[in-house]
Amino acid sequence: MPHILVVEDEPSIAQSLEHVLQADGFSCHCLSTGTEAIAYLEQHAVDLTILDIGLPDTSGFEVCKQLRTFSNVPIVFLSARGEEIDRVVGLEIGADDYVTKPFSPREVVARVRAILKRGRELTHLNLQLEAETPLVLDRQRHIFRYCGTALHLTKAEYLLLQALHRGAEQVFSREQLLVVLGVSQTANYTRNIDTHIKSLRAKLRAINAELSPIKTERGFGYRLSWQGV
Ligand code: CA
Repeated sequence: MPHILVVEDEPSIAQSLEHVLQADGFSCHCLSTGTEAIAYLEQHAVDLTILDIGLPDTSGFEVCKQLRTFSNVPIVFLSARGEEIDRVVGLEIGADDYVTKPFSPREVVARVRAILKRGRELTHLNLQLEAETPLVLDRQRHIFRYCGTALHLTKAEYLLLQALHRGAEQVFSREQLLVVLGVSQTANYTRNIDTHIKSLRAKLRAINAELSPIKTERGFGYRLSWQGV
């Protein structure tokens, strides 16, 4: 039974979501603040989080950013009518979908189902890919193993490698990687990305000197690739 966390401070909305989710065979836990949500997600395995943007203590965007430092759980944002949503920013910080209020709870459940289905397909694909590559992420313990050896990474290195690993073969610009680190793009910080990548490469090389999976795309950024390593 998939377990869904609903973070919503309007009791009537939370209750209607809970009702429809449970009727549809999901187990469901409802919370009303961002602080409670982070604490819950640190302790519990959740298959998907429905996250209101306008929470009493913080915004859903902030919760999402914080959550993404330790979890890949799918997120569906709930936004109030007229609330400005920057779709691109939302997707970059790691949302999977949006629903604007007022919505039909049935529609939300349909989207939840679609995301979970997509997630299962992706997990299957990732497991297949991982079985063929020397880099494996232990999602429970937040540890990467490389050629069978655990990598000891700083938080920044971990987040960068996680992003590159999730989007293997995809080119990430330095600006996108700054978003991954939660650092403002206005800061003159892009060179620090190069520094973190350099140190990541050194740690990978220390384990296996033959492979160099982090590619530089001149003028664009970085890409993790297992082709022709
Ligand atoms: Ca609200």
